[in-house]
Amino acid sequence: ERVEFVGFFNQVIDRFSMNKDEKVDFVRHLPNKNMYVWMDKDKVTQVLDNVISNAIKYSPEGGSIRFDAHSTKKQLRVSITDEGIGMPPDTVEKIFDRFYRVDKSRAREMGGTGLGLAIAREMIEAHHGKIWAESREGKGTTVYFTLPLMSQKRRGQS
Ligand code: ATP
Ligand code: MG
Repeated sequence: ERVEFVGFFNQVIDRFSMNKDEKVDFVRHLPNKNMYVWMDKDKVTQVLDNVISNAIKYSPEGGSIRFDAHSTKKQLRVSITDEGIGMPPDTVEKIFDRFYRVDKSRAREMGGTGLGLAIAREMIEAHHGKIWAESREGKGTTVYFTLPLMSQKRRGQS
């Protein structure tokens, strides 16, 4: 369905904001304009839920999580940045593999199956978007994804 992304993203962040403890700070850098995407709301919600829970899970006490959304001509680019434990450069691409978890011992105490990002990649690719990450060990991680924007011309249609 046609979704106004900024409003939708804010609602997802609000839900996490209400349930989170004081451990992390949320910082939103979202544009003040409407951006329309043709997407399956439930699936993109699942992607955001996993990426945001990961960011919280691997954040230190008092860490900030930053939310961004930018539009170019044809694409929307979303990113979620944490100041958490990060990961070594050679593992950032592997985290999108099924069941892959960085450092088994650290992962075990955190809980989870290692499927979240593999599913996220499937969902984003099904929407003709891309998802990737950048990370520095001990500094933090940013997960990016893109989604095609609906052209302005079609706005009147639904
Ligand atoms: P699940 O999402 O299935 O509950 P999970 O969170 O372990 O389990 P993924 O979301 O697929 O699985 O993430 C895979 C692995 O990537 C994680 O186990 C973790 O090692 C690493 N990872 C993901 N996001 C971050 C992050 N923000 N900071 C540090 N490591 C991360
Ligand atoms: Mg996860």
